[in-house]
Amino acid sequence: MNFISTRGGECVTGARAIVQGIAADGGLFVPERFPQLTAAELESMLSMSYAERAALVLSKYLDDYDFGGLKAACEQAYAKFEEGDAAPLVKIDSSLYMLELFHGPTCAFKDLALTLLPYLLRTGCDICGIREQVLILVATSGDTGKAALEGFKDAPGVKIMVFYPNDGVSKMQKLQMATQEGGNVNVLAVKGNFDLCQSAVKSIFTDEGCKAELKKRGYVLSSANSINFGRLAPQIAYYVSAYLDLVSSSQIAMGDKVNFAVPTGNFGNILAAYYAKRMGLPVGKLVCASNRNNVLTEFFDTGVYDKRREFYKTTSPSMDILVSSNLERLLFELSGRSPLRVSMRMEKLAKDGVYQLYDDEIEAVQKEFWADCCDEDETVETIYEFFEEYQYPMDTHTACAMFAASNYMNEHKKDGAPMVVVSTASPYKFPQAVMYAITGNDIKDSFKAIKHLNIATAMKVPANLSKLRDKPVRFSAVSDSAGLYPAVLDFVSQK
Ligand SMILES: *Cc1c(COP(=O)(O)O)cnc(C)c1O
Repeated sequence: MNFISTRGGECVTGARAIVQGIAADGGLFVPERFPQLTAAELESMLSMSYAERAALVLSKYLDDYDFGGLKAACEQAYAKFEEGDAAPLVKIDSSLYMLELFHGPTCAFKDLALTLLPYLLRTGCDICGIREQVLILVATSGDTGKAALEGFKDAPGVKIMVFYPNDGVSKMQKLQMATQEGGNVNVLAVKGNFDLCQSAVKSIFTDEGCKAELKKRGYVLSSANSINFGRLAPQIAYYVSAYLDLVSSSQIAMGDKVNFAVPTGNFGNILAAYYAKRMGLPVGKLVCASNRNNVLTEFFDTGVYDKRREFYKTTSPSMDILVSSNLERLLFELSGRSPLRVSMRMEKLAKDGVYQLYDDEIEAVQKEFWADCCDEDETVETIYEFFEEYQYPMDTHTACAMFAASNYMNEHKKDGAPMVVVSTASPYKFPQAVMYAITGNDIKDSFKAIKHLNIATAMKVPANLSKLRDKPVRFSAVSDSAGLYPAVLDFVSQK
């Protein structure tokens, strides 16, 4: 299967798309068509383990990778998850389920893709005959950075550098990154918000001068950001797997529709659900949940994407985003796969800060998606009420999705499809905010908050988070965005 750029001519293999991360014209790589999962194949997947299901989904896109290798890599990656299940589905009531994606090494859903990406990248380099070292640059709104560092630490032939907005991540997220182990890692805090971080990193990727200089020093660039198809592909698998779990536990019959509600930032997670649907998975509505930064809610309601608005820092920082990069892949599909239309809109977004869909596109997109946003008070209320009713603690991001899912179900009583709310982080990753929501206690210290949250909820504390307290801080540098590239050059010169 080949991959094409959303903005024009480029056409490459899966391995090349993953190694390169982004197309030379600044577009994103998308599969030339959607491979299909037939009903018979879905039936045959019922008895498979999560790793086997994931390998099968991946192999549909990455047919240039050896299937046995993919399967072994999935087994190895998903063995790192607690309780031996990478994506357990928890039943809340007869029509509501939580898909818990936070049982991996860094307690957020990014682990599902980033435990596997090192394999996809290293093997991709082999397939493409690349001999240079790989330099991975990551802009993160919090959770990607840690998951990427953890996935790539001490990987042979790879160096990884992560940039995060200095005032835009939670204390726990910052500590997770600042204490990162590994001889091939570097972390830099950047003055500014995530969008600035992301565009500064993107400009290194698209600058031929930077690339030539790095090549001279023996490095090729790659990205672990959610625009990399190697991030997207493993995410498709958990939607398929959640569906199969509903069938195999007789909650639904094969072919019944299921809705998913997804807390959304860069539009990677929910896009994977859309891809699963395009592959033939019986999915009904996709509920796109935002926090107070509600640019996507407006987009799905009106067809206007307008980033000219105030940026809010919230208690769900991984969703504090004004430019959702992966939306470009949806635009590509909505436009009838027109690179010209995508390029025009992306140019308009860069120049004017706004673009608009045509009426037929709005109609088409509203068939698939329903959107809602959740402000800070509503986040607190949702966590509190849900804990009161079900004794189920959820994190601030997941709460946004639950809020949107409840509103969808209230407004669409005739839609009898079960709702699966995608739970993207452990409540212990945002312990102060969750503790405050559940008990009203405002605890400043993260580890104290973890302890009290454990007492209040009786939910097990992930070992990877409690261990952080005793780890030394290795990275404390802060830079403005102009300092990014010099810091990168400095990093690759270090032995
Ligand atoms: C990254 C992240 C999100 C947003 O996911 P996207 O794929 O960027 O839309 C939501 N919740 C948590 C906890 C995250 O880490």
